[in-house]
Amino acid sequence: MRPVSYARATDTAAAIAFALGDPHAEFIAGGTNVVDLMKDDVARPSTLVDITRLPLGGITPSATGIRIGALARMSEVADHPAMQANFPAVVQALNDSASPQLRNMATIGGNVMQRTRCTYFRDVSQPCNKRAPGAGCAAIGGVNRMHSVIGTSPHCICAHASDLAVALVMAGAIVHTRGAGGERSIPIEALYLLPGDTPQRETVLERGELIEAVELPASTPARRSVYLKVRDRRQYEFALVSVAAGLEIAGGTIRGARVALGGVAPKPWRAHAVEAQLIGKPAGVQTYAAAAAYASVGMRGFGENDFKVPLIGRAVARALAMAEAVS
Ligand code: SF4
Repeated sequence: MRPVSYARATDTAAAIAFALGDPHAEFIAGGTNVVDLMKDDVARPSTLVDITRLPLGGITPSATGIRIGALARMSEVADHPAMQANFPAVVQALNDSASPQLRNMATIGGNVMQRTRCTYFRDVSQPCNKRAPGAGCAAIGGVNRMHSVIGTSPHCICAHASDLAVALVMAGAIVHTRGAGGERSIPIEALYLLPGDTPQRETVLERGELIEAVELPASTPARRSVYLKVRDRRQYEFALVSVAAGLEIAGGTIRGARVALGGVAPKPWRAHAVEAQLIGKPAGVQTYAAAAAYASVGMRGFGENDFKVPLIGRAVARALAMAEAVS
């Protein structure tokens, strides 16, 4: 047992001040990730700063998109009619995540900040550079079926765990934060860091910086979109690979395309090369197959996860065909 203090923040400024005043404090909202990590002795916060009373909930549609409060629950967002009408891939990613019980507890802000599911990261008897910098990486040469095939470094090959974040990258979401330096608006693609030499650093957020909201700009590809998750079992399982794909088609020609990949990289991976191959081409399975071949450029496996390299192209082609079928 490790002692841990509890502090309930009454406003955002107080929450930030708590976190800045204690280098080992962590925010807690739904608790579905941090409590898990505490049980595994991976997270060892000195103080849990409860942010659940902050006014950061709500789902607010407007003419330009939808603003989702960081404390909105996953199930609440997935059930919202405006989300279902305008961001079907995001709704599918939410509904394909975890279990109903977890989706009723987990928040949007917490979901995008969740830690990797690498089993070595969650086993304190194993070397892990992310948990203990300099210790080594047990996954390289170890059991790495769920690990990344692009964006890795010699220090870490973990995969990002969030389905939602993949769909948010496809949708071009903006993350609004507040911290010691004031407010920031960060395109979600720029929120995440690759492991490089510092796998312990996963996002650009500074200590005490709190996500207040996620903004989804309205767009045609986001409205005509799907989330395809390939996994070992239908429920309560993380992605082997996943694809969020959105298309804008006019007169049979592809005018806009957004494609993001999950399960293949330490962060949600935007497939720019695939998108470039789609623009201006006729909509149809031949175009999708040709463009999907670019999804795996630069990918390489580490043994047990070699299968992801050919699988991701097939998943992209299928997701694009599914997006075309969205009315
Ligand atoms: Fe740790 Fe990353 Fe290696 Fe997993 S892949 S053991 S998280 S360093």
